[in-house]
Amino acid sequence: MKETDRLRRFLFEQAAIRGAVVHLDATWKAIHEKSNYPPVVAQELAQFLSASALLSSMLKFDGSMILQVQGDGQIPLLVMEAVSDGSFRGLAHWRGEVEPGNLEALFGSGRLVITIDRENVRERYQGIVELKGENLAQALQQYMMQSEQLETFLWLSSDLQQTAGLLIQKMPGAHDEDQDAWNRVTQLANTISDEELLNLSAEEILHRLFHEDDIRLYDAEPLSFRCTCTRERVTNMLKTLGPDEVHSILEEQGSVSVDCQFCNQHYEFDKVDAELIFAAADGQPSVPPTKH
Ligand SMILES: [Zn+2]
Repeated sequence: MKETDRLRRFLFEQAAIRGAVVHLDATWKAIHEKSNYPPVVAQELAQFLSASALLSSMLKFDGSMILQVQGDGQIPLLVMEAVSDGSFRGLAHWRGEVEPGNLEALFGSGRLVITIDRENVRERYQGIVELKGENLAQALQQYMMQSEQLETFLWLSSDLQQTAGLLIQKMPGAHDEDQDAWNRVTQLANTISDEELLNLSAEEILHRLFHEDDIRLYDAEPLSFRCTCTRERVTNMLKTLGPDEVHSILEEQGSVSVDCQFCNQHYEFDKVDAELIFAAADGQPSVPPTKH
């Protein structure tokens, strides 16, 4: 039986090659249901979720990894955040009726941005590459090569209900003599069909592709949807907007309301809330106290 919302890492015992298989179902549905995505956009976002799960499992970190595609095409933005506890949130922006097409037709000219925020490390790591290739999988392969110097292959499949992915990667520091094994393994992996990737379990996929190899399959890692938004974070966002901006919204609308784009959670701030925010920010009330 296929286990959903699980990632399984694996290792070739006789070659410097590792990989992972991921299946996401409830996690994907939780992201998908937050917005009325056209099918083409949903398809890309679903694949982005699988890719984000696979890449974050390879780029070990404690903290969060944000994967973004920013472009000038029909889908100007894809965002997926992976937190090291196995939770994900993400969204896409789109324009008009989105027609299916290759990477360029969908995203226009764009870039791929990976931001890693490690716990207890002040500096964020950010890698940016030009968006190139036929599809998201190829663009991400390019990123891993250019930015991380890790030779990586990705297969991503999705329908509106579920999303799955397979990653194969040369281990860092692999030697030239491993090239034959690498070529053989990636050619075998290339025979996987979308249907197999979506419907077979990790064990079945590995058996189907590499039954002649010794493979160490690690325990399943559970994955889920979770939004990291809090009232405190929204408060900090309002602080960076500044008192003038916030007061002018209050004047116009009576309150400041913010909806989280990732989970649709609604946050509302009235005049008193706003006063407290800026009072706490600079140690004194932002508007002079009124005389009674
Ligand atoms: Zn949220």
